[in-house]
Amino acid sequence: LKKLVVITGASSGLGLSTTTSLAKTGKYHVIMACRNIEKAKRVAKEVGLPENSFTVMKLELASTQSIRDFVANLKAFKSARPLTHLICNAAVYRPTDPEPAWTDDGFEMSMGVNHLGHFLLVNLLMDDMSRAKGARVCIVGSITGNTNTVGGGLVYPQANLGNLEGFEQGGLEPVSMIDGKPFFGAKAYKDSKVCNMMTVSELSRRYAEDTGIVFSSMYPGCIAETALFREKRQWFRKIFPAFMKYVTGGYVSEAEAGDRLAQVIDDPQCDKSGVYWSWNGGAQSVGRWSEDGKPRGAGGSGGEIFENEQSDAVTDAIKSKKMWDLSKKVVKLT
Ligand code: NDP
Repeated sequence: LKKLVVITGASSGLGLSTTTSLAKTGKYHVIMACRNIEKAKRVAKEVGLPENSFTVMKLELASTQSIRDFVANLKAFKSARPLTHLICNAAVYRPTDPEPAWTDDGFEMSMGVNHLGHFLLVNLLMDDMSRAKGARVCIVGSITGNTNTVGGGLVYPQANLGNLEGFEQGGLEPVSMIDGKPFFGAKAYKDSKVCNMMTVSELSRRYAEDTGIVFSSMYPGCIAETALFREKRQWFRKIFPAFMKYVTGGYVSEAEAGDRLAQVIDDPQCDKSGVYWSWNGGAQSVGRWSEDGKPRGAGGSGGEIFENEQSDAVTDAIKSKKMWDLSKKVVKLT
């Protein structure tokens, strides 16, 4: 029987390429958890996902009701079969918005979708996953949340959760930023990514030992071509991939980024909880899996996986715990 893996935001970019990588192995049945069912079905066809290797299910992360409905639908779909793998990948990035947008529940959109939505989802699935053997949860991180790297530290603005004043006030409209300060779209994304990475540390600290679940975060490299940058100006979208490729060397193709995230789910060496995975060196010219789904092994020229260090902003244990407790309150988890 195939293992079940839920991937949020599987209808585009990294989520779609990871779906492709995992489906190709023949070992996984992918639940594509997407806000737009029609789009997800269309792209699944376009990339040629094998029949019976995936199921599309509705998940709108900007609505806690939709998240709860998804969990119920998933339970009905899989019946007694446990969920073994969960990838929290979906995200929005809204750097040019002058005003905040709000989720159905009244959370600022980037924090609401990227962090709070996934926070609720993971918590609701925890019981079920703890019954599975060899379960893994990966929440996609980012160097933008990492103030000790070039991408995260030097590029303005920096992530900064302050003392979580915004969450203390309930995190609801008109409160837009977690630090309680005025709205700043680019920073809201970075703050949400720091929360994603803190969530992994907290999950690991709280549940890894008792449940055997492996929790991890990863930075796929800069996939400069995805729709994530859809709100950036046209010239930026043209120049940025080339810049990342030739100047910073951080560029990675969508396909390889998908192989990387799939590796965190599938590779026996990623069987350690609480790790923030990254890859050294250049991108590969060929995928980690061949067309017939067999791993190519170490033959490729691409980056080697390693356990990356997290920034002080992420490893602050006191703030991390506060973030966890307040997130629970904000999404009304008891
Ligand atoms: P994309 O914009 O291509 O993909 C984002 C996905 O999230 C889409 O499938 C989108 O759905 C989905 N999504 C957005 N809002 C919601 C919502 N409200 N409910 C459900 N799903 C939603 O971006 P990427 O593939 O680049 O990003 C994927 C992950 O990788 C993110 O976590 C991002 O932070 C991370 N990342 C990306 C980097 C990069 O260089 N691109 C670098 C570091 C990290 P739809 O298809 O309907 O639009």
